[in-house]
Amino acid sequence: MPEYVIVGGGPAGHSAAKTLVEEGAHDILLLSRDPDPPYDRTAVTKSYLHGDITHEQALLDAPEWYAQNGVELRVRTSATKLDTAARTLTLADRSTVDYGRLLLATGANVHRLRIDGAALSGIHYLRTLRTADEVREDVEDAGHVVLVGGSYIATEVAATLTSLGKRCTIVMQEDVTLERAFGKRAGGFFQRVLEEHQVQVHGGQDVARFEGEGRVSTVVTKAGDRYEADAVVVGAGVHPDVTLARAAGLELGERGGVLVDSRLRASAPGIWAAGDVAEYESVVHGGARMRIEHWDVAEQQGRSAALSMLGRDHVHDAVPYFFSDLADWVSMEYVGPAYSWTEELVRGSLDDGEFTVYYLDGDRLAAALTVGRSGDLDRARELIASGEPVDRAAL
Ligand SMILES: Cc1cc2nc3c(=O)[nH]c(=O)nc-3n(C[C@H](O)[C@H](O)[C@H](O)COP(=O)(O)OP(=O)(O)OC[C@H]3O[C@@H](n4cnc5c(N)ncnc54)[C@H](O)[C@@H]3O)c2cc1C
Repeated sequence: MPEYVIVGGGPAGHSAAKTLVEEGAHDILLLSRDPDPPYDRTAVTKSYLHGDITHEQALLDAPEWYAQNGVELRVRTSATKLDTAARTLTLADRSTVDYGRLLLATGANVHRLRIDGAALSGIHYLRTLRTADEVREDVEDAGHVVLVGGSYIATEVAATLTSLGKRCTIVMQEDVTLERAFGKRAGGFFQRVLEEHQVQVHGGQDVARFEGEGRVSTVVTKAGDRYEADAVVVGAGVHPDVTLARAAGLELGERGGVLVDSRLRASAPGIWAAGDVAEYESVVHGGARMRIEHWDVAEQQGRSAALSMLGRDHVHDAVPYFFSDLADWVSMEYVGPAYSWTEELVRGSLDDGEFTVYYLDGDRLAAALTVGRSGDLDRARELIASGEPVDRAAL
């Protein structure tokens, strides 16, 4: 019987397995529905989509690393049922696995648009390496690609495909790109960068339907605007994959994730959760429940969960960190997150493309976004974690 079973081969599951190995644990089973061993998902919209790195280069470890280090990796393997009382996991082939301790690192699934024309070919959602392969192949002969959404996925894909010579149009609900995360001012900066590289951006638009004969040819908005498209990529958010957890009767949180404490323990003994699926008690946010969809957070939570599974009294106390690149045009980094704020303080200059925006909630720092001033992030992390009042002049 494997003592440690990890469901999910994303960064959370992968870093949990690595940490268990580093700490000398044995009997580790890592299950992933994905056909590929764990890989860098962030490359799916960036370097991998652009063709800068190969499939092998996108892998987090060589396929043989797992067996060599005592981790049984089973890809193309879905867990379908979790029985927390019997401590068994049922797999899609109906076999069962007994476990001692189990980590749910099932991540998130893309939100699919359920509108007329949604089943036409040429409409894509990006999450896996395979979906990036499909997009690359499909847009080879496409002149014009429409991106639905104004957040990371749509903006990153617009930048990547533009740099591959495609004409890209973003159609989004937001007024300016990335405004939900960063506000209108910083969002406006990123939109200008996109527009300077000939990406067309249309805000305040709800997509009503897709039209085409078998294949998508037009994106139609509720306002009646029509955008021609040889292909479409939708980035309309994700929802945590709590299928196993819900059916097992684990407690879920208000943000839709598996509820865990600051040590990432779920509501049943022997179960932990980490990554996109985990709604955790964040000690650096005064114990607030957070569910975060960032690579670095998933990786660090995988590590924290593994230590906790090993019986260490380990509290997950990292300040969440996010990065994104729009082709090689601009890179951003962010610590936070701020769901709301009362004031934005800018250091540096948005006009010069080198700046930090500090997001304050009253006198407290809630988040910081930087372009070209990574050095500002350490102090920002300290201020977020301490919750001490910000000295605006010193910032
Ligand atoms: C295209 C893309 C680009 C991104 N770029 C960035 C970025 O630039 N910066 C950033 O900070 N974040 C980025 N993110 C977000 C980041 O990748 C996620 O936050 C991170 O991957 C979450 O990790 P995870 O391990 O929780 O889940 P996931 O990476 O979603 O992995 C979950 C795994 O669980 C498996 N699984 C689910 N259910 C089962 C089951 N029942 N049985 C077996 N296996 C199962 C899935 O197949 C998958 O392999 C990006 C996300 C995407 C999709």
